Amino acid sequence: MPEPAELARELARANELLESRARALDLAERRLADARTDARTLAATNERLNATLADARESLVSLRAELEALGTPPSSFGVVLEPGDETVDVATGGRVLRCAVRPDLDPDVLRPGARVLLNEALLVVGVVADLPAGETVRLVEVLDDGRLLAAGASGDEMVLLASAALDVAALRPGVTLLADRRALLASAQVPRSEVADLTLEEVPDVSYADIGGLGAQIEQIRDAVELPFRHRELFTEFGLRPPKGVLLYGPPGCGKTMIAKAVANSAGSHFLNIKGPELLDKYVGETERQIRAIFTRAKEHATSGRPVIVFFDEMDALFRTRGSGVSSDVEATIVPQLLSEIDGVEGLANVIVIGATNREDLIDPAILRPGRLDVKIKLDRPDRDGAAEILARYLTAETPLNTGGREPEEFRSALVAAIVDRLYARSEENRFIEVTYAGGDREVLYVADFVSGAMLAGVVGRAKKAAIKDLIDGGERGVRLDHVLAACAAEIGENEELPNTTNPDDWARVSGRKGERIVFLRTLVGSRQLTP
Ligand code: ADP
Repeated sequence: MPEPAELARELARANELLESRARALDLAERRLADARTDARTLAATNERLNATLADARESLVSLRAELEALGTPPSSFGVVLEPGDETVDVATGGRVLRCAVRPDLDPDVLRPGARVLLNEALLVVGVVADLPAGETVRLVEVLDDGRLLAAGASGDEMVLLASAALDVAALRPGVTLLADRRALLASAQVPRSEVADLTLEEVPDVSYADIGGLGAQIEQIRDAVELPFRHRELFTEFGLRPPKGVLLYGPPGCGKTMIAKAVANSAGSHFLNIKGPELLDKYVGETERQIRAIFTRAKEHATSGRPVIVFFDEMDALFRTRGSGVSSDVEATIVPQLLSEIDGVEGLANVIVIGATNREDLIDPAILRPGRLDVKIKLDRPDRDGAAEILARYLTAETPLNTGGREPEEFRSALVAAIVDRLYARSEENRFIEVTYAGGDREVLYVADFVSGAMLAGVVGRAKKAAIKDLIDGGERGVRLDHVLAACAAEIGENEELPNTTNPDDWARVSGRKGERIVFLRTLVGSRQLTP
């Protein structure tokens, strides 16, 4: 057994030991806590540093871009031919280069046909969004591999790549394409009317019976067109050369188109309806091509034995007198070409050209020589009798009338007479336009000076519409007197011939006025007051 004193010593030693351990533990714990705190602080610092770094990187990139932009010499333009993975093939300055692309450019925009900017190092640095421009070529054929065989204005052929903007599957031969010849790339289709859109080829459904008045003119055109068609052998026997063409002239809306269609209908002929201004094309060589196509088509039809009428509406657009200063193109190329096409038609017995114009004064006299449009027919504005005849074509025995108990035929005549009186009266309310002539004289023109077949048809159309609306609203059936009178007033007010041009004299000639030059005009009716 150990001594109690020794036991006590041992206990004291053990206690000491324990205490020192406890102290050590305490120290260790404190250190751990400190370390933890340090770690947290460090993590936060780290995060901050990271953010700063990212910021710095970003500003570095933008600074570099700015620096680059500042230091970039003028860029050159190119057109993407073929996009690759990291490079694109670009046509620029007549060469094709494989260029690297700035990494931040969206590869999707680098499609064939895209216009791009190249820096000095020929790196593609940007895409330019602009409308494509170039020269026009005609598509000859889409090749099997999607490339395009095209022809230029002089007939030279080339094979082009199609830009992504082109729907190659929808392209028809003959359409016009915009091409960059040096890049050998077709960038877009140029919308334009083809011959097929300009013409209407079936036999028209207008007959002589639909035309009011104009009996003398109808006889003239029948003699010129139908007689030779029908009795060719008699013309040969009598040694008479049938006329090649007819020029119909007179103010707008007075039946020129109607007569041309009716003669085609009566002769059972094809009718190629060409609108002069639509044929005029801003692209060099295009109008000529269209004219050629029209006559080629006329000749094709003619060989089938059926007569063909080629009708040029608003022919003055194509045929302005040389020196009128309208367009050098028209004078230099289109007039001679049309003349030679018309001359070329001479050998074909059953092709006839009918021209129509409101501006006979502008037509090149060369077109009126024998063997060309050698029959001239004037269609004037209808007089009162003519107007009544035209009205009778629209207010027919079949038109539902609200006669108010009167005998229908008598009532119909009364309606016609009321319209004629209303339009032809030289009354205060019918003052239409005041013109000032170059010499200073003024003259008031009345509605009567502007009546046309189109206006009369318009009046009846309006009256019928009003009668239909009344009927729908539960009113009585049929056209009444107040319908036609209201229609007259409306038609006068909205007359399409009201001058809307800045050139009064031009307007006056279109309207069929001759004589002294008009320098000023003032509208006296309707909503369109031209000048104060
Ligand atoms: P333009 O002389 O300008 O060629 P249109 O023959 O096209 O005139 O006539 C325009 C419209 O006016 C015709 O569709 C028709 O409704 C009407 N019209 C003109 N003249 C007559 C007429 N003499 N008889 C019947 N309707 C006519």
